[in-house]
Amino acid sequence: MNLQTARIDGEDVATDASTTLRAPYDGRELAEVAACTAEHVDRAVQASLAALRDPLPTWRRAEILDRAAERLAESDLAEECARTIALEAAKPINTARTEVTRCVSTFRFAAAACRTLTGEVLPLDASAAGEGRLGLTIRVPVGVIGAITPFNFPLNLVAHKLAPAIAAGCPVVLKPAQQTPLTGLRLARLLLDECGLPPAWLHVVPGSGSETGAALVDHDDVAMITFTGSPEVGWGIRGAAPRKHVSLELGNNAPVIIQPDGDVEAAAKKIAAAGNSHAGQSCISVQRVLVHEDVEEAFTRQLVAAVEALVVGDPLEEDTQVSALIDAGARDRVSDWVREATDGGASVATGGDVRDGILSPTVLTDVRGDMRVCREEVFGPVLAVQSYASLEEAFELANDTRYGLHAGIYTSDLETARRAVQHLSFGGVIVNDVPTWRADQMPYGGERDSGNTREGPFHSVLEMTTIRSAVFS
Ligand code: NDP
Repeated sequence: MNLQTARIDGEDVATDASTTLRAPYDGRELAEVAACTAEHVDRAVQASLAALRDPLPTWRRAEILDRAAERLAESDLAEECARTIALEAAKPINTARTEVTRCVSTFRFAAAACRTLTGEVLPLDASAAGEGRLGLTIRVPVGVIGAITPFNFPLNLVAHKLAPAIAAGCPVVLKPAQQTPLTGLRLARLLLDECGLPPAWLHVVPGSGSETGAALVDHDDVAMITFTGSPEVGWGIRGAAPRKHVSLELGNNAPVIIQPDGDVEAAAKKIAAAGNSHAGQSCISVQRVLVHEDVEEAFTRQLVAAVEALVVGDPLEEDTQVSALIDAGARDRVSDWVREATDGGASVATGGDVRDGILSPTVLTDVRGDMRVCREEVFGPVLAVQSYASLEEAFELANDTRYGLHAGIYTSDLETARRAVQHLSFGGVIVNDVPTWRADQMPYGGERDSGNTREGPFHSVLEMTTIRSAVFS
């Protein structure tokens, strides 16, 4: 059996308890994974505090990040990581490869952020009291960082925490998702064993959120929690740690608007793919499709055709585009929501059934905003199509949500695009593409229940450092 230990202060640590990890697609056993207690978390935090007393110079941190990017771009490791993601997350292999490519980019931008982080010169003599003094600011690490990550991007979302932490000069303790811990553990081994990151700067403590994650949140010497996951857990952590800096990247039910002057054919194809990428388990997966009534019939016909053309099956097969949800519970929940929508008057244009354990990519029409497939985050392969009569109505429908991560609009009219950027109340508005579009250097994050931060190496480094003013008298 493949035993996956915790990694604490450079040591492989076997724990008394462990969990058996199985592939969501076919249930095969993948590994026996350590389950850490509060004691393990404390050991990791104490080692991190020691690391802070002996800071790594900027050039060394940037070199470590560069090396990680170079190594991840090499085909042997890239393929190993992609296969691990495909197995533990049931992410189709080509989608998993894209995640690895993006991760290379995350490390490259973190290296750039590391090298270019600067302070400012303060105009102290602009006040009489400051005359004759010189003032400047430097940015210093916030301290030990606790990183808690979700199951759906087990490599790149872990990288979005570890890479900026290294760039900022912060030691980090990672608690990866119990459902997908293997890729994060592999990434840590890469940084520690192959890229020169000293042992005290990164620790991985696999385990459950309720025990291991909570111990990290509760630890007095953890200065900041960087969390990606569900709003319920995220805001709970915010409440439980009022004295810590807590950055939250949470859920969404992304809307996309299709105007009659937009490229309807391109929109249908992109939405079919983006709404079903990793079976809809992305925080910016397209979910609410708002289409102008003049093009509703043509758009829906093309959307259904594109969704029906998706290849469903084994995540390790080259042509698979959609595979299983993360577990049977998730599949049953999404199926229930589809049933609830149809009971309430929605129609299934395609999908809705379960074949070989996989929920088929589903398009619902005649939905209403109060149905859970519109109101909540589905996190499954379901597109809910609703029509509108005017642009104002489309904005109103799109904004009528407790979430606010990304929205999209298809239009060829510049003024419509400008108004969308102005009126759609989201962290990002994507014009002429799906809301699922993201580049890793962007300031990425949401409003309302979707979070309280902007992630992306340059912005994360700012969050993970604090300003120190220096005054020369
Ligand atoms: P969860 O919120 O269930 O879990 C996220 C992490 O938090 C896991 O590691 C989990 O541990 C841990 N956790 C659970 N309870 C606690 C607790 N009490 N204290 C500390 N940690 C805890 O999210 P999922 O893994 O199910 O991921 C899906 C969610 O993530 C969706 O809502 C999605 O939208 C969001 N997401 C947001 C992104 C963004 O950038 N905005 C990107 C990707 C996903 P464990 O599960 O191991 O027990």
